[in-house]
Amino acid sequence: MPRTYAHGIGGGTFLIGGGFDPDRSPDGNSLILYGPEGAFVIDTGRHAEHLTLIKQGLSGIGMTPVAIVNTHWHLDHVSGNPGLKAAFPDIKVYGTSAIDGALTGFLAESAEASRRALAEGSVPVGAAADIEADLATIARGAELRPDIVIDESRDMAIAGRPLSLRVAHRAVTERDLWIYDAAEKRAIVGDLVTVPVPFLDTACPEGWLKALDEVAASGAEQVVPGHGPIMDIAAFDNWKTAFADFIACARGPGALEACSAGWLKGAARWIGPDTSRAEAIAVYYGELIRSGKLDGYCSA
Ligand SMILES: [Zn+2]
Repeated sequence: MPRTYAHGIGGGTFLIGGGFDPDRSPDGNSLILYGPEGAFVIDTGRHAEHLTLIKQGLSGIGMTPVAIVNTHWHLDHVSGNPGLKAAFPDIKVYGTSAIDGALTGFLAESAEASRRALAEGSVPVGAAADIEADLATIARGAELRPDIVIDESRDMAIAGRPLSLRVAHRAVTERDLWIYDAAEKRAIVGDLVTVPVPFLDTACPEGWLKALDEVAASGAEQVVPGHGPIMDIAAFDNWKTAFADFIACARGPGALEACSAGWLKGAARWIGPDTSRAEAIAVYYGELIRSGKLDGYCSA
């Protein structure tokens, strides 16, 4: 998907499309919304280029951001937080406290693995810069944490704009935030919906399915995913069915190749003609599910 510089999607809302270039780590989608008291940003990407697009979008609408809302702690959604806070010191960050466990768990362990791989020289040349940037972000992990913790669903106004913040427990991460904008009948769901594959690294598949049911029941007519283009509700239903089928297949006894083939077919419209990357990642996640490695994310 080409990067879009603050593309207006109606209702005082602008989308900055994330990217997933070959050999690089992804940026999640970001949004800029505004209300009577200023603008706010939903998710801040990973790369410096993405942060630049957010800043350009903000100056384009001529409003000062008062808040960041993070859907979850993955680095392709929070890495721009410190840069945006430095530029706009009054910003308050809203998010769940799940990042606290991640900083001492998943992120600490992945930083350790990355340092080892860099030292051994086993990192592809093209990937080293992204890995070093992620290490620098993790080292500043405390600056990624929310100022205002939202660990249970609640309706509230941000920048004077009423929104429903919904917390999904044990879905993509231990706690994910998604936003229902009732005035626009729009659900901004973070990585509860992603293309070209569902990013299952820290997920409880069954909790994720439950969260998708809640999105479907929200009244949304439009879904903004964490990665990929905006979906109408029929497209979201198709994505949800493909996801449910993939999980059921990976939990079942059949060949994992059939599970990834099923995903490529069910999600074909979002993958495009070159399916090799999506296929490789789907096989990887199929193995993660089947091996039971994700089951720890489902238990309290
Ligand atoms: Zn993401």
